[in-house]
Amino acid sequence: MFNSSFPSYPLNQVVLKDLLVSIGQDRVLWAPRTGPDGLCRLQLVSEEDLPSLASLTFIPLKKLLLPPREAVWTHAAGQFSAVDVPEPFAVIGVPLCDLQAIWYLDQVFADDEVYQSRRMQSLLVGMACEPGPDCRCDGQLMPVAGDIFVGRERVWAISAAGDSLIRSAGFSSPDTDVMLPWPEGTAEKRQNLLEEQFYSGLDASVWEEEGKRCLSCGACSVVCPTCYCFDMLDVAAVDGTVTRHRVWDNCFFAEHGEVAGGHDFRPGRANRLRFRMEHKFFGFGILRGQNSCVRCGRCHKVCPVDIDLDRIAEQLVGEGFS
Ligand code: SF4
Ligand code: SF4
Repeated sequence: MFNSSFPSYPLNQVVLKDLLVSIGQDRVLWAPRTGPDGLCRLQLVSEEDLPSLASLTFIPLKKLLLPPREAVWTHAAGQFSAVDVPEPFAVIGVPLCDLQAIWYLDQVFADDEVYQSRRMQSLLVGMACEPGPDCRCDGQLMPVAGDIFVGRERVWAISAAGDSLIRSAGFSSPDTDVMLPWPEGTAEKRQNLLEEQFYSGLDASVWEEEGKRCLSCGACSVVCPTCYCFDMLDVAAVDGTVTRHRVWDNCFFAEHGEVAGGHDFRPGRANRLRFRMEHKFFGFGILRGQNSCVRCGRCHKVCPVDIDLDRIAEQLVGEGFS
């Protein structure tokens, strides 16, 4: 198990209330809220309206740290100017799987000033949750990031900033031996698909079968808490000011694999589905070998044609491509 040695404190509801109030004193507060359409989204909330449990939001927390379109620099009159730093904000009621996803994004964007400036302004408070039917979270998949985790019986300090806030609120008598409480009763662990099995199964029938059903809508990537593909877009104004924007891209879109000269590395939907699964299971670039899926189940839930990465993994293992 990763990150098992965070200090934790016995939960005291009165002190917890003081802690949450102190967090809201100089930060904008976001928390999950379920709307009349039945979808849970992050909403701006007041200190009186904070949750006591985490909820899995339809659109993940990454949207606050990696907005769909953001300016990364502006150039005017021979000078570059940095992006605006967002005001401090806290997200209260984040499930553990989403804290893992933030850990992954923190690695990917470790040297990215724009991402890091948003991250520095954020305070992330995880909470215990009730797993849904699509949840298959697993503490073994990767470490968690964030600042504080509020369990049913204890409060954990994940970061030094979180520990300082916890102590200032009045929590005392920390213990370092209590593990983060991963939800029980989530579905079975992922089929252990090995990289060799994946590569032996590059021509497996499952890709064409599932690829034929895939609509290339990209919804799975939009809701995935660890998908981060982006494109760069330079916009020049009439006065010569140029602003560079980072814009979400999506590996399911037909032009994602196109390069100059018109060659397309992934012209078919089966190619694109396989590409995404490879990177969810076996990581990317310097994080190669690190699984990048936290098994939140969002992609399966949102998919209009019921494509499920776990089922594909089971099929690859079951067909014995090794
Ligand atoms: S279950 Fe799907 S949405 Fe969730 S992290 Fe894995 S690939 Fe992304
Ligand atoms: S949500 Fe489903 S149909 Fe849409 S791109 Fe993803 S796998 Fe394909």
